[in-house]
Amino acid sequence: MNNKSDPHLIIVGGGASGLVASIVAAKSGMCITLLEQNSQIGKKIRISGNGKCNITNKNIVPERFHSCHKGFIETVLQDYGFDAVKTFFTSIGLELVEGKEGKMFPMSLQASSVSELLEYEAKKLGVNFICDCRVDAICKKNDIFILETTQGIHKCEKLLLASGSPAAPQLGGNDSGLHFAKQMGHTIIPNLPSLVQLCSKESWIKHASGVKCEGIAKLYANGEYITEKKGDLLFTAYGISGLAILDLSREASIHLAQHAYCELILDLIPKLNKEKLTALLLMRIQKESQKPLSLWLQGIINKKLIPVILEQSKCKAIYEYQLNRKEIGKLVFTLKNLKLSISDTKGFKGAEVAAGGIDTAEVNPQTMESKRVKNLYFAGEILDVDADRGGFNFHFAWVSALRAGKALKSNYIF
Ligand SMILES: Cc1cc2nc3c(=O)[nH]c(=O)nc-3n(C[C@H](O)[C@H](O)[C@H](O)COP(=O)(O)OP(=O)(O)OC[C@H]3O[C@@H](n4cnc5c(N)ncnc54)[C@H](O)[C@@H]3O)c2cc1C
Repeated sequence: MNNKSDPHLIIVGGGASGLVASIVAAKSGMCITLLEQNSQIGKKIRISGNGKCNITNKNIVPERFHSCHKGFIETVLQDYGFDAVKTFFTSIGLELVEGKEGKMFPMSLQASSVSELLEYEAKKLGVNFICDCRVDAICKKNDIFILETTQGIHKCEKLLLASGSPAAPQLGGNDSGLHFAKQMGHTIIPNLPSLVQLCSKESWIKHASGVKCEGIAKLYANGEYITEKKGDLLFTAYGISGLAILDLSREASIHLAQHAYCELILDLIPKLNKEKLTALLLMRIQKESQKPLSLWLQGIINKKLIPVILEQSKCKAIYEYQLNRKEIGKLVFTLKNLKLSISDTKGFKGAEVAAGGIDTAEVNPQTMESKRVKNLYFAGEILDVDADRGGFNFHFAWVSALRAGKALKSNYIF
């Protein structure tokens, strides 16, 4: 049996899912200790969504989530859509407001308010927080979990691993929870960075650094079309970022891990189709004009991209009067099909989330309890579930925690 001074439940990780699970479970009156390696609770929450925390999305559908087992997500989301998350946050005094594309934010537009209200609520319910406490090893003996930490040994009957993923190690991201789960018999789907910037070794990329434009990025792996995304493109010294890139980075990460040759084809002028862009450029040609092409193209695209377009298109004209239909054809093709080879991602350090994690086939989607180890629960990104940008990753953290907390609460016997 557990010692009387030991908590009934230990939660490893004071991030999004650990905090919510602690609040729900604490309502049963059970004694809970939450161990957090950082000196501050909820570090990722505090800087999320550019400081505003995109807390969830109004349009929760399973298609926005990724896992090796789609059925797991479908079950988790049943009765745990947008309304469930809204109800929970309203109950702790946090109002939500809607942004673009169904994205929901705290009304304060301050990510820190999410973390601080969660922490307050958990402490009010008696959850014992121990910060600066890293869990280094876990084993189970005689139905008791024994945790070796930087602040001594901790024991409990029930354990919730909510220690997240290796994404953003600068904020505490690591894969320790996956090692603990593996040691206790779980299968781990290898982690890959997602929602991450992409690197390129193209010599021209550094000259375009700082350019931001609206475009379409198409991803090809070994010459095969994979996917495409529309939105911001941001050229950087190391490669490319921007919302369109983050949105396709999961696929790029998977194919790069398989050593495929990855390439982006960028449409820098998506608002005009090939015919309309050709007609516009032809119309702009003034006969006998000595204007250099480098200046002439400034009326169309960012000047930092002009040398790239001229070089890649192999346009022979130097002055406006030298342009003809053939040269315009080359320019149009390059403006709408600029090739950018991709060598790597920016890794976990640049990633918002990690794909992969604990195999969800080994976890009960109703309760988040392990099917392998009794009284072991999981919540959040430690599981093999990641999602699209737009509040979906936090949504999974909250709802998996609501489910785990509820199950722990109802299994608690006084
Ligand atoms: C820059 C950035 C911005 C983001 N913005 C958004 C957004 O706006 N919307 C959205 O939906 N998602 C966003 N995300 C993703 C979101 O933050 C995560 O999906 C979410 O935090 C996962 O919750 P979690 O509880 O599983 O893990 P985390 O929130 O990472 O919490 C895990 C906690 O466990 C602790 N821990 C780890 N190992 C140990 C150990 N061995 N001992 C003790 N403690 C340990 C960690 O320090 C951490 O505090 C963002 C991520 C990043 C990096």
